[in-house]
Parts: sequence; structure tokens; C-alpha cells
Amino acid sequence: MCLKSAMRCSTNDQFVDSLVRAGLCKNKRVESALRSVDRSKFVRDPETAYLDRPQSIGHGVTISAPHMHVVCLEILEPFLEPGMRALDCGSGSGYLTAAMMAMVSEGGSPGGAFGIECVEALVPWSMQNVANDNKIQWLEDTENFDLVHGDGSKGFANRAPFNSIHVGAAAPHIPKPLIDQLASPGRLVIPVGPQHGAQELIIVDKASDSSITKRRAMDVRYVPFHMKGTEVYE
Ligand code: SAH
Repeated sequence: MCLKSAMRCSTNDQFVDSLVRAGLCKNKRVESALRSVDRSKFVRDPETAYLDRPQSIGHGVTISAPHMHVVCLEILEPFLEPGMRALDCGSGSGYLTAAMMAMVSEGGSPGGAFGIECVEALVPWSMQNVANDNKIQWLEDTENFDLVHGDGSKGFANRAPFNSIHVGAAAPHIPKPLIDQLASPGRLVIPVGPQHGAQELIIVDKASDSSITKRRAMDVRYVPFHMKGTEVYE
């Protein structure tokens, strides 16, 4: 088991093998997305890339722990079918946006994945990470893949609607623009709660008739998601 610091994986494949063996990754499509995106290209310290823990990426934020990326990808998987469109709010390192892109573009499908990040300096770095992971062709096709600077609590209106939306930080409330920008059907996964208090991972589904249902998946711990002046869904 190389998810703990006692023994280290030396390749991304070994790392994914260990996530599967530990029962942390069960879905085959998520597994193949993780195999196609090398986590060591999306961190500051490649030495500890394959450990199951968050890692600082500067600016007071972290790349999330691998098991949390897997949880969110598995929740969103039915809405990350080839050809679908995905939004990653708080894209940070770009890792999860890339994993979403791997799923929606599987088999050469014309799916789209977009990341929006409020720390401007992280955006060119995340693009460089994608390039270093041999995915320059994605960066050249900005119609279907993009990492941009902006306030993700407002969504990404000119690329909407999205079948799946992931929020990578804990929001005090569910932002209304994200509900508005969900496709019908579509799914939003968002950590909700105060910075230093109880946070829950919430799944919001928009059905084909645009009705909304909401449920709690698990307790979580994330860095804060900023929502200055954003209309609140509830
Ligand atoms: N999934 C990313 C998570 C990074 S941490 C990864 O694993 O690399 C969460 C990120 O959300 C941080 O980079 C933080 O700057 C960003 N963030 C917080 N509030 C935001 C907002 N309103 N809009 C865009 N990004 C935001």
C-alpha cells in the first residue's frame, strides 16, 4: 500500500492500483481517468504526489487529497459521460479539471471541461501542468477545454449549461448561479459549511423537468470558497 508515507509509489499507475486495492476507487471510468492524468505533474512536490493527502500549492490553498477527488468524480460520473460538459470551480492545480476532461472526451468525444480559479497566479501554472502531462492538444482547443481566472461562485455563464459542476472549496451557501447553469439533467457537488466548522459535501441534482433535489454525501474539510456578492440559492 503506497498511499501512506511508509512506502511510496513511484508511478502514477502504481498509485491508482493502490487506490483501487484500498477500495477507494471503485468506478472503472474514474479509474481510467486517474490513470490518464498523472498527479505528479499537478503538484509542487512530486516526491509526495502519490500519497493520499492534500498538498500545498501556495497562496494558502491545497490540491485536494486523492480520495476526495475520487469521491467527487464517482458522484459526478453519470454526468461525465463522453460528450458532456463539466465545470470545475476552484480549479487550483488543474488536476480535477483534467480528470473531468479525460472522462467527457473519452474515445475522442467532443465533450468539454472548464476550470475557473480566483487566484490569478495559479491559472498559468495549472495550464503548464496540463501541458507537462502531455495534453497540449486540450489547451489548443479552447472551445472544449479552458482554465480561466475568475470568480467561480458566479459560474462560467458563457460556457453554460453544464451536466456536471464541481466546487473544490467549502462555500458558506450554495451559489444560485451554479444551480442556474446546471443542465437538465445535471449534477452539482459542493462542500458547504463555515471555514472552521462542520462542512458537508452536498449533491444537488437538477432533473429533466428542472426540479431540484439536494442530499448530503459526507462530512468534509476544505479551504474556503469565496462568494462575494453572489446570489445565494439557499
Ligand atoms: N480541485 C483543486 C482544489 C484547489 S483548493 C485541486 O485539487 O487542485 C480550492 C481552490 O478554490 C483554491 O485554488 C482557491 O483559490 C479556489 N477558490 C476559492 N474560492 C473561489 C472562487 N470564488 N472562485 C474560484 N476559485 C475559488
